[in-house]
Amino acid sequence: MARRKKIYEGKAKILYEGPEPGTIVQYFKDDATAFNAEKKDVIDGKGVLNNRLSEFFMSGLTQIGVPNHFIRRLNMREQLVRNCEIVPLEVIVRNYAAGSMSKRLGIAEGTQLPRPIVEYCYKDDALGDPLVTEEHIAAFGWASQQDMDDILSLALRVNDFMSGIMLAVGIRLVDFKIEIGRVFEGDYQRLIVADEISPDSCRLWDIETGQKLDKDVFRRDLGSLTDAYSEVARRLGVLPQSNVTKPTLIN
Ligand code: UDP
Repeated sequence: MARRKKIYEGKAKILYEGPEPGTIVQYFKDDATAFNAEKKDVIDGKGVLNNRLSEFFMSGLTQIGVPNHFIRRLNMREQLVRNCEIVPLEVIVRNYAAGSMSKRLGIAEGTQLPRPIVEYCYKDDALGDPLVTEEHIAAFGWASQQDMDDILSLALRVNDFMSGIMLAVGIRLVDFKIEIGRVFEGDYQRLIVADEISPDSCRLWDIETGQKLDKDVFRRDLGSLTDAYSEVARRLGVLPQSNVTKPTLIN
């Protein structure tokens, strides 16, 4: 069998050339990293869960008309996505203070914010993805003013969708990160949600108990990461209703 071409290997995913032009195969690894890859581990089953969960969220976004890169899941660890040019920004939406915002501004973790707050970080591992303002983004040409209007609107739509879907299963969406891709259609370009949406890139707290069900379990050594992600998947009906710790496929 011909070896397929690897396009890029990141911390949690590998991208391969897709079977048709304009497509990419996104492979979810079991590797977990935190603190700019200073903390690393391999977590059995994480990739399978994130592949499923990202499929679930992206398909839901498609159903409500939020454009995104997802085409279809291929197998346990891979999905076919649209090739796009990634805007070099991490778009973070926060509903409650946590993580770097709590540290930076001295606001206790869990404090509800007066409204969703959107932040932008410049995607550069060597610099530790620094927080930037719209002035930096415009001045350095990372995105135009029209792009920024579209990015803000996509981010807030994803926030409303994800907050609602999580609320329905007793989970608070504290914050999340998305990445945005540019696709070209003839003379036009369009911005779409890309990368992944999973517990690796969201903060998810149980509404009743406050239990963390996201990557903070790994960052802060709070127990089993697969148990946490499986719980999210189980509540959303992405995995069967049993208490699975090992991901099982349903079709
Ligand atoms: N996040 C992410 N990738 C990053 C940085 C942040 O997915 O490289 C997510 C993180 O999981 C959280 C949100 O973005 O849901 C806000 O993260 P924060 O700025 O608080 O950074 P952290 O505390 O994770 O360093």
